[in-house]
Order: sequence, then C-alpha cells, then structure tokens
Amino acid sequence: MTFSALRHLFLLVSATALSLATPLHAAQHVNVLLYHHVNADTPRSTSLSPEEFAGHMAYLHEQGYQVVDLGEAIDLIQAGQELPEKSVAITFDDAWRSIYDNALPIMEKYDYPYTVFVNTDPIDERNKMSMTWDMLRELKQRGGTLANHTTDHDYLVRKPTYDQDWLQRTLDNIESAQQRLEDETGDTPKWLAYPYGEYNLQLKQALKERGYIGFGQQSGGIAAFSDWQALPRFPAAGPYSNLKTLKLKLASQPMPVDYQAFAETVVRVDQDDSNPPVLSVNMLNQEKKGVRDQVRCFILGSAETPDWQDKQHWQISAAKALPAGRSRYNCTSPIWGQSNYYWLSQQWLIYQE
Ligand SMILES: [Zn+2]
Repeated sequence: MTFSALRHLFLLVSATALSLATPLHAAQHVNVLLYHHVNADTPRSTSLSPEEFAGHMAYLHEQGYQVVDLGEAIDLIQAGQELPEKSVAITFDDAWRSIYDNALPIMEKYDYPYTVFVNTDPIDERNKMSMTWDMLRELKQRGGTLANHTTDHDYLVRKPTYDQDWLQRTLDNIESAQQRLEDETGDTPKWLAYPYGEYNLQLKQALKERGYIGFGQQSGGIAAFSDWQALPRFPAAGPYSNLKTLKLKLASQPMPVDYQAFAETVVRVDQDDSNPPVLSVNMLNQEKKGVRDQVRCFILGSAETPDWQDKQHWQISAAKALPAGRSRYNCTSPIWGQSNYYWLSQQWLIYQE
C-alpha cells in the first residue's frame, strides 16, 4: 500500500469515527432569505449590490450553513423529518435580469440551489429589466426552481370589497401565471409569493383549497407549525442587507406558536376601528417564567413588552395606530439553554379605499 493510499484510508477511518462520535445535529426548520434586485443601480429598498450579495453567500459558506433546495426542505418538514443543521433557502422575487446577470454566477460558484418567484406579464412583454423566457428556461435547466408571483404583481387585497368577483379575479390571475410558467418552462410547484407579502384570510383559505403554498414577506423561518399559506421569509436586501443584523436572523428559529390562529392581517380603516391591531399568540409550549419575561416585540422602532394571559398566551399591539400601508410586529425571545433567539413576525396592511 502506498503512502497516499494509507493516508486516504486513515482519513476515511478518522472521518467515520468522527461522524459516529459527533452525530450531526439536525434541524426542524429552515430559514428563508428573500432578495429582489442584485444590482447597485436599482431602488435601494429592494436591492443589494453584487458585492453585498457575494458577501452574504460567502458568509453562509464560511459559517457552515447548508443552503438547501426549498422544495426538498418543505417536503422534509411536512413529512415530519429532520433537515441538516443550519438549513437556509434562498429566494428571489420578480425575475429581474440582475438575478441572471449577477446572482447566478455566485450561486453556481457554491452550487447553491435557489427559487425565483416570477410575475409573468413583464416576461411576456419583454421588459428589458426582466429575464426572458429563454433565460428562465436556462435557469431551470441549471438547477433553479421557478414559482408563481402572479401575472401583473398587483396589490391583491387593496380592493373596494372582498366579494366573490374579487376572489375569482384574484384566483384567475394566480392560475394564469401558473399556466404561463407551465406552458413556457414545464412543471412548476404550486407556490405563490404574494406581491408585497399582502394577503387576507379569504385568499389564504381559497389557495389552501386549491393546493397552493403561500409565501409572505414577514420575517422568520419555516417549521411544521407554520401557516402554509403565509410562510415567512427574511428580507435580506436594502435596509436588511447588513450582515450584522442578518447573522442574528440566520441563527434564529421560528417561535413555536399556532400561526394558523393569527387574526386578519388587513385592517380596513373605513370598516373597522381595530388600529392598532392586536396580535394574539398561542405558544405551543408552556414557557418558563424567565423566558416569558424576555419576549420583546419591535414595532415602529420601539420595543414593546407583551401582555401574558397565562403560561402559553400573550397579546401585543402597537402603542399607537399604525400608519397607512404595511407595518410589521417582530417579536423575539431567548431559546432556553441556547444563545440564539426565537423569531416571530406578522405583517399588517392598514388600508383605506
Ligand atoms: Zn415582488
């Protein structure tokens, strides 16, 4: 046996011994990052530069994050199976050309899977800022996943009424985007990213009946107890592109609560006076006193302490009425015996016709 073969055998044996001695910790959740433009010249609120994006991917690589295929992660979570520790999935909304030009080479350098949520009208209209169908087909051949972001990227729930006509028009929009994706690129998972992360209870229910999974833009990770028609993602561009704050989010775990019991996210100021809205949270476990004392919600730039009804139930609302448009309640709490945090977020839409 040559020295190199011996060395190889030694490495093999020690690697096996190591893996037996320290079994990989597995995770029950995946944190999902949300990007739009990867471009230094597009609106900052939804952009980060190619250099910043490269920095994020390098950080994931260096810190041992496992960038996983979103579909595989969803399948494992729904089947009650474990994911690799430090699982992260990458998503891009809007199918901008800069994803093809600037993000793909970086994703392929690390062999990272990713999903692009496509609003199909700009592709059909050959918008210069968007990818073409040829690029999207190529992206899919190279291992990307494409999913639904409606045809026209309209505000789905900023409408005068939520009657049957509204629901039918909205579902037609979603189904025709799904059809365009399938006609042009083949099989497409039934995943909808709501434009602007805006949805209401009626739309969620209709999508559930039609077998769709829904993605919002409230921050957080996905676990078995998530609301599958309102899955969270961590926005990671613009004001959220700073690695210092992103690090905390990447290390966080979804707060184990009953997300499906969350109230309506749209407050119509002409029809109800529930502004600021109240978020009622049912924890899935009884929280220890020390942990309960440390749950904090960050709303309109200030930290608020929730009101605990008992060991499992608490409520939070903003100290004053939320402004028109979108706002978020972001809540964290320490995880017992760990250095990282549970994370929970709810987005609200304060809407006046
Ligand atoms: Zn979008």
